[in-house]
Amino acid sequence: MSRVAVLGGGVIGLSVAWGLARRGTEVVLVDLPLPGASSPVAAGMISAAAELDYGETELWQVTSRSQAQWPEFAAELAQASGRPVGLRPTGTLLVATDQDEQVRLDRRLKLLADAGVGAQRLERRELLRKEPALARTVRGAAWLPDDFCVDRSLVLDALRSAIASAGVRTIRAQGRVRMQDGRATGITLPDLSVDADHVVLCAGWRSPHALDDPVAERAGAPMSGLRPVKGELLDLELAAPAVTSTVRAVVDRVPVYLVPHDDTHLTVGATSVDVGADLAPTVRAALELLSAATTLVPELRDARITEHRVGLRPASSDNLPAIGISPMPGLTLATGHYRHGFLLAPLTSDVVADSVRAALTEGDS
Ligand SMILES: Cc1cc2nc3c(=O)[nH]c(=O)nc-3n(C[C@H](O)[C@H](O)[C@H](O)COP(=O)(O)OP(=O)(O)OC[C@H]3O[C@@H](n4cnc5c(N)ncnc54)[C@H](O)[C@@H]3O)c2cc1C
Repeated sequence: MSRVAVLGGGVIGLSVAWGLARRGTEVVLVDLPLPGASSPVAAGMISAAAELDYGETELWQVTSRSQAQWPEFAAELAQASGRPVGLRPTGTLLVATDQDEQVRLDRRLKLLADAGVGAQRLERRELLRKEPALARTVRGAAWLPDDFCVDRSLVLDALRSAIASAGVRTIRAQGRVRMQDGRATGITLPDLSVDADHVVLCAGWRSPHALDDPVAERAGAPMSGLRPVKGELLDLELAAPAVTSTVRAVVDRVPVYLVPHDDTHLTVGATSVDVGADLAPTVRAALELLSAATTLVPELRDARITEHRVGLRPASSDNLPAIGISPMPGLTLATGHYRHGFLLAPLTSDVVADSVRAALTEGDS
């Protein structure tokens, strides 16, 4: 039987390992939790339409497809792991907070309609009926009923259980892709080597660092443009439920989202700054996010801050992930998922597992 080594055990590496193992491939996963990983920080929104932007048609094709796969992926994962995944149909409200944002909301509704998304326009009164805790000053919203959110920790725990049940061996160490005679042959670890017929690189923003320079160069754009984009968010504990939907808005030019995880836990996110591998939680981020969040939902002033988290999103130069691209024999990439690693996990799992198995069957690309 062929053996595949997966390097990196965030949501992408775990999903790829599970995709391969449940198709009957022998898998070894090498992962070391290093500072700045993105998956333990994510807000957990499964929301392709809310992320849709002008000129990102190619990205929309993969994000919308993956979102449609989530209910089945979650059910199968829950069954395989015997654990809850925490997928909740919260829907998303894109809220306009002032007149400029109302104009932008109309443009966004047109963009969504052009993409075939059935977003519903809610006037102020309907919006406040739906979410009574929102500030009286809101102007209206677009309602995206098909969006979900997941609990990132539950998803990661379920994936770890599912791969263990499927027989994946996990090695906790920092590794590098081993190249011999122009092909990937395994992973080099500090004091041993893992031999493999194929290697999948899923090391988030650190992926280029796990390759020798000439190999990273040959991999081209997906590797050369990959960089960490810093994101900060805050977890709050509430005395009483605040909102039932995921709420996104721009408040005084600060983009903010509120993701309700249950009646008493909510995430406020997120900043996005291109400052390299900086992991410091900043006062500016806390001030801006909490000011925007409490303007939107005043009663959040009474919440307790339980955590201020910082993660580094793996961003490519064109915001597109490298999924199933094989830059050289024996190596497949699954990285560059930027703001969408959880959203894109089901599609990445399938596409990469199928392409790796096809490469193995053909005696490699
Ligand atoms: C603030 C914030 C909010 C976000 N919210 C959302 C959201 O709501 N929805 C969504 O879909 N996405 C969201 N994201 C994006 C999402 O978190 C990422 O796209 C996703 O986590 C990327 O997963 P990954 O597995 O590629 O990388 P990572 O999660 O970074 O995992 C990489 C793993 O590989 C390990 N590793 C790296 N190098 C090596 C090595 N050489 N040897 C061994 N191990 C190694 C790392 O330690 C880590 O464990 C958010 C991100 C941030 C920062």
